[in-house]
Amino acid sequence: MNNTFTQLENFGHSLKTACYRLQPKTNEEIHEVFQLAKKQGLTVTARGAGRSYNDASLNGGGIVMDLTAMNRILEWDPATGLVRGEPGVTLSQLWQKVLPDGWWPPVVSGTMTTTLGGCLAANVHGKNNYRVGPIGEHVVEFTALLPTGAEITCSPQKNADLFYSMIGGYGMLGIFTAVTLQMKKVESGLLEVHAMPSRTLKEQLQQIEDGAPNYDYIVGWLDCITVGHGQVHAANYLHEGEDPEPKKTLQLSYQNLPSRLFGVMPKAWLHYFMTPFVNNVGWWGVNHAKYITSLRTHTFRQSHAAFHFLLDYVPDFERSYGRGGLIEYQSFLPKETALQAWTEMLNLSVKMGLPSYLGVTKRHRPDKFLLTHANDGFSLAQDFKVTDGNRKRLSAMLQEYDKIVLANGGRFYFVKNSETTAETTLKFYGEETVEKFKKLKKRCDPNGLLESDLYRRIFG
Ligand SMILES: Cc1cc2nc3c(=O)[nH]c(=O)nc-3n(C[C@H](O)[C@H](O)[C@H](O)COP(=O)(O)OP(=O)(O)OC[C@H]3O[C@@H](n4cnc5c(N)ncnc54)[C@H](O)[C@@H]3O)c2cc1C
Repeated sequence: MNNTFTQLENFGHSLKTACYRLQPKTNEEIHEVFQLAKKQGLTVTARGAGRSYNDASLNGGGIVMDLTAMNRILEWDPATGLVRGEPGVTLSQLWQKVLPDGWWPPVVSGTMTTTLGGCLAANVHGKNNYRVGPIGEHVVEFTALLPTGAEITCSPQKNADLFYSMIGGYGMLGIFTAVTLQMKKVESGLLEVHAMPSRTLKEQLQQIEDGAPNYDYIVGWLDCITVGHGQVHAANYLHEGEDPEPKKTLQLSYQNLPSRLFGVMPKAWLHYFMTPFVNNVGWWGVNHAKYITSLRTHTFRQSHAAFHFLLDYVPDFERSYGRGGLIEYQSFLPKETALQAWTEMLNLSVKMGLPSYLGVTKRHRPDKFLLTHANDGFSLAQDFKVTDGNRKRLSAMLQEYDKIVLANGGRFYFVKNSETTAETTLKFYGEETVEKFKKLKKRCDPNGLLESDLYRRIFG
């Protein structure tokens, strides 16, 4: 088993910790990691692709169990759309396996680099959360290894309490070792996308609310500097007969994001050119230009990969934020209070001179997972640049954000926010949920081996 003492970072490069990185390749080796941790008095954190924006897969001074070497697709049945894979299988591997047979993952994150283990542990949502729920609702079964050494199988019928708490449990109860997922049948490699401008936040939320029942996916881009300008993209699958060349569009060659801009400049260089614009003035200009080019309402067809993985279009875009990196803050507000809460938050960030350079809005619906982040409302994800000079003020501002979210009945998503405290977490989940989770933790992990920096921060 590969074993190194190394420094790891979160996706946003705003946090750094030294840890022992062990890379098991089999269930037996996962078990060995637990035994070693127990013997050495160390804690263990699972890690997939490390694409969490915060400390979810970091473990300062402890062991980080890197599961990316367990990345085989074990079974694929094009007749039923059932796929079974190891935890390190990436969404990129997954869609490339199933699309040529006319299937697509029912839920994907905004990047295809995430792993199945990481996606289940966070219970990720897509731009269709209001329709199909989070990824956990499409898991037919998973197997997991607990720190006790027990190997368990969970489904909505079998070990249901662990099914609904390990999915979305941020890797704190056990390690996913294999996942069976139901794919979604598609008739074409294209989506029909309708793009419309929005002049205010209120208008954007209304467009999403009105559009959601008519579209398979809906997502908004919000200018958080000018506050309110934006654009909504709503998309539908094509039905049989609507794509004249489905065999062609389902091919991988039709989907792959080009590696060069205008066929010339390698996209890997793009983030260097973005860096000079990642400041309040530069980004105001970028947002303004984007808004002006978004003013035309129009409809176009786009490949699944291009629509879903826009953020992969600029490889390492997070590097453009510079040495201090970035923090993402995503809040989930009930539809009744979203406008008021976000108006307050956005005004605060502008007033403090700490505006977000990216704003993404989505529509959600509640689900029955124990540590769920979704509700009947909207989410707004905001990206903040971190510098040596603003780190403290930013942290204080995000704690103010937490208060606004709590006061408005909102929810948090713990692979994004990095400032939320244990006190706030308790208020957010409520004592009953936290107690229930801690009881399950005691049962699955009696020696408290599974701990991450996130766990210590939000559960104290
Ligand atoms: C550009 C970008 C866009 C994103 N878009 C979205 C989005 O649209 N929707 C959304 O919901 N999220 C989104 N995310 C967040 C991302 O999907 C989650 O953070 C996801 O958990 C990352 O997966 P990973 O494989 O990198 O896991 P890591 O970041 O490595 O780990 C995440 C969590 O999973 C646990 N874990 C990992 N593997 C296992 C395992 N085998 N068993 C048990 N626990 C495990 C870790 O301990 C940790 O708690 C985005 C992230 C980025 C960088």
